[in-house]
Amino acid sequence: MKFVGAHVSAAGGVENAPVNAHAIGATAFALFTKNQRQWVAPPLSPKSIDLFRRRCEEFSYSPAQVLPHDSYLINLGNPDRDALEKSRNAFTDEMARCELLGLDRLNFHPGSHLNKTTPEECLNLIAESINMALDKTHGVTAVIENTSGQGSNLGFTFEQLRYIIDRVDDKTRIGVCIDTCHAFTAGYDLLTPEAFIKTFSEFDRIIGFGYLRGVHLNDSKKGLGSRVDRHENIGLGLLGAEPFRMLMGDPRFDGIPLILETPDESKWPEEIALLKGFDREI
Ligand SMILES: [Zn+2]
Ligand SMILES: [Zn+2]
Repeated sequence: MKFVGAHVSAAGGVENAPVNAHAIGATAFALFTKNQRQWVAPPLSPKSIDLFRRRCEEFSYSPAQVLPHDSYLINLGNPDRDALEKSRNAFTDEMARCELLGLDRLNFHPGSHLNKTTPEECLNLIAESINMALDKTHGVTAVIENTSGQGSNLGFTFEQLRYIIDRVDDKTRIGVCIDTCHAFTAGYDLLTPEAFIKTFSEFDRIIGFGYLRGVHLNDSKKGLGSRVDRHENIGLGLLGAEPFRMLMGDPRFDGIPLILETPDESKWPEEIALLKGFDREI
């Protein structure tokens, strides 16, 4: 069973996200639980929390169908001590918000070394940051997203993600999210059946499907190994529709949120319908 949806708006309150997801025919959704461009947000009101939970129930969204995304400002590997502290506090707050909403996972980009420290030291900081957040929260899994490797962003190889996982104490609350555009632009080919199989057997060998807690379904404007992150709508980019057909037909991607982050939101209803169609084909 595949859960497919998109990163929907939570404007006006988190309780609007399940409504927006339902309106586009989604069986999964992603959301920001606060303004993603601000450090501090007011706490979630009891009314918002209650409505969010009731609407998820009404539209049949279980925690396994929801993949919240943290703020873009957070850098859990920031080599600057004050900035790191700020990121760690914000991340722990976001984990706590997910807990309040009854959600069980939080998706985040691992972090950037900003050319001020080595990749290894940065990955160590990220793992330490995750351990700190897990210590202070309950029941929410930290879900690391692979990146394109643009600039000094880490997490663009399966080995880097594994390196972080190895240093997280509670292995039951660490997971990964694979973004198809990021994987492709980081150098993981998905274009042919052979390439798709090779990439995901490498993923399974180095990380393991047991850690997979979500997927971002994005086509790419940029080429294989370009290390440039530019999403495109499904079928309109350099990936084309075929990798998504293969993914939808692969049972290893069952039971987790599969989320569109494609730029033209008006296409989401048809993209979701297309993907659901791929699922039924197999
Ligand atoms: Zn993504
Ligand atoms: Zn991206």
